[in-house]
Order: sequence, then C-alpha cells, then structure tokens
Amino acid sequence: MRVDIFTLFPDLVRGYLSGSLIGRASASGRLDIRVHDLRSAATDPRRSVDDAPFGGGPGMVLAPGPVFGAVEAADPPRPLYLLGPGGRRLDQALVRELAGLRPGFSLLCGRYEGVDQRVADHLVDGELSIGDYVLAGGELAALVVVEAVARLEPGVMGNEASAWDESFADGLLEYPQYTRPGDFRGWAVPEVLRSGDHGRIRRWRRAQALIRTLERRPDLMRARGGLSPDEVQILEEHGYSGEAHSPLQE
Ligand code: SAM
Repeated sequence: MRVDIFTLFPDLVRGYLSGSLIGRASASGRLDIRVHDLRSAATDPRRSVDDAPFGGGPGMVLAPGPVFGAVEAADPPRPLYLLGPGGRRLDQALVRELAGLRPGFSLLCGRYEGVDQRVADHLVDGELSIGDYVLAGGELAALVVVEAVARLEPGVMGNEASAWDESFADGLLEYPQYTRPGDFRGWAVPEVLRSGDHGRIRRWRRAQALIRTLERRPDLMRARGGLSPDEVQILEEHGYSGEAHSPLQE
C-alpha cells in the first residue's frame, strides 16, 4: 500500500515514521510511504508558501500555488485528503475503509490559519478530521491516520490477531488486559484469567467488553443495534444488572 504525505515539515513526519512500526514496515517493503515537501513547488526566492487572508483577519493562509504544484509534480495515489477540523471525522470504520484502498491514498497537511479554499474545492477529493479540536498543523493528524491504517496492513504488526481483537473491532470496546504479577500491591488478577479454562475466559472477556461499552460508550452500543439475545445471556451469567458500576470481578 502506498501513502503520500504533503507537508511543510517533512523531517518531522519522517522522524516519527522512521522510529515507529511504520518505519519497519516501510523498510521491509510492506508499506510505501512518500513524504513530499510543500515548499518544493514554491517559486519565489524565499520559497514562501503562505500569504495574508483576503478580507483581513489574523494569521496567514497556505497559498494554492505551491500546494497544487507539489501535488501535481508527485502525481500521488488518489483519493487525496486534506486534513482539517471540518473534515469527516476519523473512526475505526473509516480507518478500515482507508486500509482497503489500492494502490493507496494521500494526505495533505495544512498549517497557519488553514489552506486556500481552492485547494479543497479543486485539488483534493475530501477532508479528514481527527477530532473536534484544533491542532497547529496537519502533521500529527496525518501520522494518526497513517498509524491507524498501517496496523491493519498484513505483516505490519507483530501479532496479526491483535488488530482484529481490540476496541471497535465489532463495535465494542476491548475487555481489560492483565499481565504478571498475578497480585500487585494486593490487587489480584481476576481468577478466571488464571483458570486455564479458555471457554470461560472467552465468555468473561465478552461480558467485560459488553459492560465497558454499555457503561462508557452507550453511543457505540446504540450504533451496533444493542445487545443480541446471546449477549444478554452472557451478561446475566456474569451477574450484570445493568446499573453503572465497576466491571465485575470473578
Ligand atoms: N483556522 C482553522 C479552523 O478554524 O478550522 C484551523 C487551522 S489549524 C490551526 C492548521 C491546520 O492544522 C489545518 O489546516 C489542518 O491541516 C490541521 N488541523 C488542525 N486541527 C485538525 C484536526 N482536528 N484534524 C485534522 N487536521 C487538523
């Protein structure tokens, strides 16, 4: 899969990528990540890429010339998404959609007060947001998108199962995880996890995932259509009464 990233801070983006699991995946040829400098297409001697907003107001705006120039020179894989708080909000369903794109997709990082609207209107194919807050630039947002997508690519993560057995995999939050020691400062790991009974463990984990989702993210529970009759039974087995309380211990 190929992902092209357009940014004013290519070293920042490359630095993170090379130190993460994505760097390993790129080195092994599983991912082809290309980082492009938006300044490469600036034409004036100072290589400036921004200008004051028409109509006045604070800050500067990323100008269309260098952005169109950099993208057209690279001919990146489409769709090309502009990162910005007004875009479609990233969630695991969108991450899975992006992971299915071939040959890949591209990301354009804004800066300053934003990007000239003609980029959004005539160059990109859509806009992506990573949440309802404002960052100083699109670089962190691009890295969030790339990392979330990359870990779904076969061979990128050490343990293939983990991407499919975790939060949001089927509309639920993940069950709680524990490791050694079995007793830490008097807080014991639930007995069921040390029982060796894999059927019981599976049902306990399912119950915990359901309880966590019901209590913390009722919106997710509603979005998946509530509980199935089997799931109601699993919750009953684990003594869940439906009231808000801490996860059950066995
Ligand atoms: N003035 C803009 C506004 O009010 O919507 C915010 C511009 S922000 C300071 C600069 C750049 O950061 C944006 O062009 C975008 O690329 C990136 N950015 C900021 N917040 C983001 C978010 N929540 N998701 C994705 N990108 C974001």
